Amino acid sequence: MKLREFTSATKRRQALEKELQMSLMHTGKHLIDETAVANRNCENMIGATQVPLGVAGPLQVQSSKFKVQSYYLPLATTEGALVASVNRGCKAIADSGGCTVDSYSVGATRGPVFRVENLVQSNQLNTFLEERFAELQNIALSTSSHLTLKKFMTRGVGKYRYVRFVFDTQDAMGMNMATIATQKLVAFIETNTQAKCLSVAGNYDVDKKPSWLNLIEGRGIKVWAEVVIPESVVKAVLKVTPQIFYEAWLAKCMYGSILSGSLGFNAQFANIVAAVFLATGQDLGHVGEGSLGVTTTEVISSQFTVGSGQKKNDLYVSVYLPDLMVGTVGGGTGLPTQQEALNLLGVAGGDRGSNSKRLAEIIAAAVLAGEISLLASEAEGTLAKAHQKLGRGK
Ligand code: NAP
Repeated sequence: MKLREFTSATKRRQALEKELQMSLMHTGKHLIDETAVANRNCENMIGATQVPLGVAGPLQVQSSKFKVQSYYLPLATTEGALVASVNRGCKAIADSGGCTVDSYSVGATRGPVFRVENLVQSNQLNTFLEERFAELQNIALSTSSHLTLKKFMTRGVGKYRYVRFVFDTQDAMGMNMATIATQKLVAFIETNTQAKCLSVAGNYDVDKKPSWLNLIEGRGIKVWAEVVIPESVVKAVLKVTPQIFYEAWLAKCMYGSILSGSLGFNAQFANIVAAVFLATGQDLGHVGEGSLGVTTTEVISSQFTVGSGQKKNDLYVSVYLPDLMVGTVGGGTGLPTQQEALNLLGVAGGDRGSNSKRLAEIIAAAVLAGEISLLASEAEGTLAKAHQKLGRGK
């Protein structure tokens, strides 16, 4: 099977195609080991669901820590036009000299809820957590050689006190690790206070649900990506003008999101997050959280160009994803095809947290590519046509 070409062929791309065909299409080697999976990933396994895997790129990314690097993005999807759309965004980014990314590890959170009988007990629990924090950290440390308890937050209402523990889990997404550690912390708290735990996960985490708390505080890894696209590239690759692009973004991502009470002020974060998550073995339950975030755009005006190298009428686009729960070890990341996808990005395995951060940064850049292409398509009025052609084969 030949991988589909969306842009003119380059030697690098042809070499990559060969490499991908050799690795992903190799019979036998990449089949799931049922025995291993039964103990880790899926009970009562009766088979494996096939999802088409496409590749978009090269996606050119740089940060303050590394120079421009090219990535080929593995995207698992059944939505015709998605890979082509991200591919077009990648081209716009590449023709602009690459995008810039940044990230911050917030950590995996677990949020037990305790029952207390009155405000006095509620405050006692709070004081206990503050005064015995070093002991809590040691208890957490004893559960894993890759986990540390960073901090906690609490909120009380009526007879309930909610705690949000925040853990550094290095390269693992960390929800098993955080839950195991929290269980031990809860036992210590119950022994030493009058509080009784009602649930180890009281929704103050907030796990697998989009929420304002996660949008504001962040969860997992926070990531940013930005690019300045020259006016000529906007016109040649995206077939719109910067001003029309800006108007479509303002109407959709800002006013449209406000009117609908959306927690995502963006065009389609979840689409790209889901496709990369599926390809790289992430927990799909976290796609909802990954949909949180903001896209900003600006047509560069002269007052902002001074000293920045940006030219009047160029288009600035940025994305901010405050809640990416990703890992490069643990969970589904060890499955054969998923490992291949992580290898393709150069982030498979553990590296003291830097692999999971890099994966999050690549996802942010991919999301940026998706935002650029979709917003351009809507601004140009070609969204339906593209889906008819690529999603219905017409
Ligand atoms: P995990 O596979 O349960 O644990 C990660 C393992 O990798 C740990 O044993 C850890 O070592 C080890 N490890 C080796 N090198 C590491 C490195 N560089 N960085 C971090 N860890 C390293 O994975 P998890 O991320 O904790 O949990 C993911 C799974 O949890 C997914 O399958 C997901 O679906 C599921 N999940 C669970 C819950 C829950 O409530 N339990 C909620 C949501 C999702 P140590 O032995 O030293 O810890």
